[in-house]
Amino acid sequence: STLLSFSDITLLRKWDNDHVWHPFAPMQAFREEKVPIIERGEGFELIDIEGNRYIDGISSLWCNVHGHQVPEVDEAIKEQLAKIGHTTLLGLSSPPSIQLAKALVDRAPGDLSKVFYSDSGSTAVEVAIKLAFQYHQQKAGGPEKRTRFVCMSNAYHGDTVGSVSVGGISLFHRIYGNLLFETIQVPTPVALRTPEGYTRVGYLEHCVAEMERLIRENHEDIAGFVIEPLVQGAAGMQIHPTGYLKRVRELTREYDIPLICDEVAVGFGRTGTFFACEQEEVEPDFLCLAKGISAGYLPLAATMTTDKVFNAFLGEPQEGKTFYHGHTYTGNPLACAAALASLELFEQQNLLEHIGKQTALIAEKLSPLAEHPHVGEIRQKGIMVGIELVGSREGMLAFPTTARMGHQVTLEARKRGLMIRPLGDVIILMPAPAMPLDLLGEVCDITIEA
Ligand code: PLP
Repeated sequence: STLLSFSDITLLRKWDNDHVWHPFAPMQAFREEKVPIIERGEGFELIDIEGNRYIDGISSLWCNVHGHQVPEVDEAIKEQLAKIGHTTLLGLSSPPSIQLAKALVDRAPGDLSKVFYSDSGSTAVEVAIKLAFQYHQQKAGGPEKRTRFVCMSNAYHGDTVGSVSVGGISLFHRIYGNLLFETIQVPTPVALRTPEGYTRVGYLEHCVAEMERLIRENHEDIAGFVIEPLVQGAAGMQIHPTGYLKRVRELTREYDIPLICDEVAVGFGRTGTFFACEQEEVEPDFLCLAKGISAGYLPLAATMTTDKVFNAFLGEPQEGKTFYHGHTYTGNPLACAAALASLELFEQQNLLEHIGKQTALIAEKLSPLAEHPHVGEIRQKGIMVGIELVGSREGMLAFPTTARMGHQVTLEARKRGLMIRPLGDVIILMPAPAMPLDLLGEVCDITIEA
């Protein structure tokens, strides 16, 4: 029978092992682990089918904003559900998708006035890449054949072929090399381990100079510059030096290169401002949003762009200036309704101010850990935290990969009621922007203990 009693834990586990291929999971090892099967969420806690409770220390993969079962968001979805669950944006429209576009435009920096919806962070970036590529072929002042994108050396922008192409995390992306389009990679300006012959400051300066050189030498062929503003999350919470993004903007402006800011992870308050690029007063040509956009409730993404880009896509149908891209669930009304409710709640609860308090609390709580013999560095921007574990601080030597130290710490945290997920040997904390301070204190305490 396919009818399943939810109390039948053994059967659920068996079916999970037999049929579910989990993302980003080495499945052989994974099947031997008894991963919690989450049945419910209450506030900032996850509850599994055995009744164990865990604090959600990474906002359910960096997307939850106000907690789980939030009455205002639940209500908005139910209200929309009573009208229609889904209708297409291909040739039709829907009130929540229109209202959300307006709300996003009102909040976005610069002259981002157009919203193209999709369903995930990967597709938000994919759309930006395709739009930028096509834009040069149709733009006012004559077409240009620009074919290459600039990206950061250890970037992560998602898992579709386009977004993998602008990625550079060897473990995730190396295998697809022959499938991907060629990019210009600029060195990520971070310096925990500086190459031979460089001081920390000297290396950061070198990274900036390299970025400048690569742009100047290749600008005629550059279709866009893709970057996560301020923090490269999946690279292990790698924080760029102040002013880096601004410098990228100056140069991309100078050479009319569209700047694509991927705020999938850093958007919606996580770095301390609503959008991260605000901190350097940077106005991008494309802004990619996902994760927190729908409060972590439903799949939704948006790629925002300017009239300048949009206008290059205007013309008679036979001119072929159409953007032939759109997913079935693009702009789903339930997800847009959740997003609208979330934006309202964000405002009402003055979450930016709360994030300021969360930021200070995390810094204070984690400071003793900085001296730990196996902590190489604690990186924090707002409420995004990466604690890099090292085998030895002398030379910042990594643990052997077989030790899976990040994973071990995560399991210890889980035993103590905290759900986190590492990136290699970097312990990630990514609490929800609305998590109360006492609970956030607990997250820090458990992490230190683990
Ligand atoms: N871009 C960034 C910066 C991300 O952190 C992620 C996901 O972690 C993505 C894109 C991809 O988003 P999604 O997993 O929703 O496709």
